[in-house]
Amino acid sequence: MNLKDTPEQATFREEVRAFIREHGSSARFEGDYESGWSPEARERMKAWREAIVARGWVAPAWPKQYGGAGMSPVEQFILNEEFAEHGVSNVGGFGVMMIGPTLMVHGSEEQKAEHLPKILRGEVVWCQGWSEPSAGSDLASLQTRAIRDGDEYVLNGQKIWTSGAQYAHWMYMLARTDPDAPKHRGISLLMFPMKTPGVSVRPLVNMANNAGFNEVFFEDVRVPVKNRVGEENRGWYVGMTLTDFERSGIGNAVGTQRRLEGILKRAKERPAHETVLDKANTWRLQMADRWVEAEIARLFSYHNITIQARNLIPNHEASMSKLFTSELGQRIAATNLKLYGLYGTLWDRSREEAERGRAADGYLQAVSSTIAGGTSEVQRNIIATRGLGLPRG
Ligand SMILES: Cc1cc2nc3c(=O)[nH]c(=O)nc-3n(C[C@H](O)[C@H](O)[C@H](O)COP(=O)(O)OP(=O)(O)OC[C@H]3O[C@@H](n4cnc5c(N)ncnc54)[C@H](O)[C@@H]3O)c2cc1C
Repeated sequence: MNLKDTPEQATFREEVRAFIREHGSSARFEGDYESGWSPEARERMKAWREAIVARGWVAPAWPKQYGGAGMSPVEQFILNEEFAEHGVSNVGGFGVMMIGPTLMVHGSEEQKAEHLPKILRGEVVWCQGWSEPSAGSDLASLQTRAIRDGDEYVLNGQKIWTSGAQYAHWMYMLARTDPDAPKHRGISLLMFPMKTPGVSVRPLVNMANNAGFNEVFFEDVRVPVKNRVGEENRGWYVGMTLTDFERSGIGNAVGTQRRLEGILKRAKERPAHETVLDKANTWRLQMADRWVEAEIARLFSYHNITIQARNLIPNHEASMSKLFTSELGQRIAATNLKLYGLYGTLWDRSREEAERGRAADGYLQAVSSTIAGGTSEVQRNIIATRGLGLPRG
């Protein structure tokens, strides 16, 4: 196995590094922990986004004909790896990752012309209306109804856990357009502005006191039929081709190693009485385990990118990577918390110990990573059935 860059790849890597050296300082969220994204942090992030837009790297995987960078999987991998290595983020969110690629495959020419340029310019923030109170892992049981009325659908129902809905300009979502059809066959994919009358958003505060996701309610929301993506009642299949153009997972794995380096650095810097470093050998052993696991996570990413480089789509291999990396994230958060002994449970931002409460906060935030984007049990089911050929339970 040769993991070294070819000369062309090395040149590209240097290009990315130079770009980060020039613009990257604006993209690091060292942030004001108490107030989250302070106005200054938002301004800096805006400058970083504008630099990426100007460089044409908002959508590394989109084909050039749609204004993307048209990068190969390995180039995307290098870009993501360098971004993660230097602690700067990609931009674009659900627009670039999900609805943009879906429109390229299934959208009308009018839809492509309206939405793709705005996504590339970073002007429109999208949210994803998939989950409902009784439809998460079993998404096809969703009940939000869209009843056809001439040139419009009338939408009634509710979504839940909708990330960023309180900031989003547009939503793409799945709704039931034929309640009598078998459950996967009566669903359509619709898009509408969040300001449409009848849409209301209620933020949900998670246990880390953070309102990242929301409930979204629809009351007689009128959506033009021209905002349906793909055929009526075929939305399940349209939604499931939200292809993983950009889902190599490398960012997570490299970010994991950076996080461990940060933990090590702080462990050595903090006053001895505030950590267990000089007392608990178990902590040192745990840290060694995390280090080994982070290397494994990186190898999972390499595996996935190798599959993509052969023009194939990772399947159970992507699930293995997601499962391992998200559970590792929780183990790292626990290891970080334990470093500070009882101080680790402090959630008081005004005190210096335990990273001003960040250790406890990180522990609480990490819980959701094995639920979001498909739970660990769902990933294990995929590995068992598609990877190991075991029958469905
Ligand atoms: C931080 C975060 C952000 C999110 N953002 C979004 C978003 O932007 N848009 C959106 O639409 N959704 C979003 N979600 C929702 C997410 O997709 C769902 O939470 C997830 O799919 C699980 O669904 P559920 O919560 O309904 O749990 P359920 O599906 O009800 O699962 C409950 C438990 O049962 C287990 N389980 C379910 N089915 C099986 C099975 N077949 N075999 C074994 N065990 C099973 C699950 O693993 C879980 O432990 C987000 C979730 C989180 C945590």
